[in-house]
Amino acid sequence: MTQIGNGNARHRVELPGGAVVTLAWAAETDIGNRRAINEDSFLAQAPLFVVADGMGGHAAGDFASAAVVTRLAEHGGRPTVGTPEIDQALTLAVQDMDRGVGVTDEGSGTTVTGVALTEISGEPAWVVFNIGDSRVYRLIGGVLEQLTVDHSVVQELVDAGQITRDEADTHPHSNVITRAVGFHETPAPDYRAIAVEPGMRLLICSDGLTKELTSYGLRHFLTSETRPERAARALVEAALGNGGRDNVTVVVLDVISVVRD
Ligand code: MG
Repeated sequence: MTQIGNGNARHRVELPGGAVVTLAWAAETDIGNRRAINEDSFLAQAPLFVVADGMGGHAAGDFASAAVVTRLAEHGGRPTVGTPEIDQALTLAVQDMDRGVGVTDEGSGTTVTGVALTEISGEPAWVVFNIGDSRVYRLIGGVLEQLTVDHSVVQELVDAGQITRDEADTHPHSNVITRAVGFHETPAPDYRAIAVEPGMRLLICSDGLTKELTSYGLRHFLTSETRPERAARALVEAALGNGGRDNVTVVVLDVISVVRD
């Protein structure tokens, strides 16, 4: 498990186009109740907020998730990051994994998901990116929406109408993902852009959270706790209380204000 960045109660970003975005965030990770090691990693440092969930035997999964957040963190400290930098960082991370410790012939891999602060036509925006079954959610006006689409066998069954979304997280194949970063392949993230709006809250998390909590539960803790560090802690504790069968990692990111020049 690699943690890059800490919580921040108030962080001001001046964008090249003149807008000033003020953010607050917190990150939490826990090994859970059943696993011997924590193979999740996170990056919580403007302009990038990322969770990676490593997979593979021995140290390979841990190394893979660490490689992803470490390469993405090389773009930390800048006001904005775009899709070319994310693509490049993920490609370098796959090369790191091929040279990594504990890697077998099958290689190692990891999920990755997160958001990057960027600018589109001079307006602040979030680039949401995803490979695998870690997730990004948006809470705005009390409405929680999952922004990423899992790359998983059960998501394909949901899309085909064979099972419901509620059945997906308890399905016996719920851990099988269909796309990853690693395994010697060129990473292929899904990207989408959303507006940066004051009052919005983003949740970035590994499946150790979403396999233990329904979207109703996620919404409950995100709306009942105002401060991001309290919301992140409450979510992790709820996941542990519901079984904690996997490593649990949570980043809660708030947009406090957006001021245009
Ligand atoms: Mg997991």
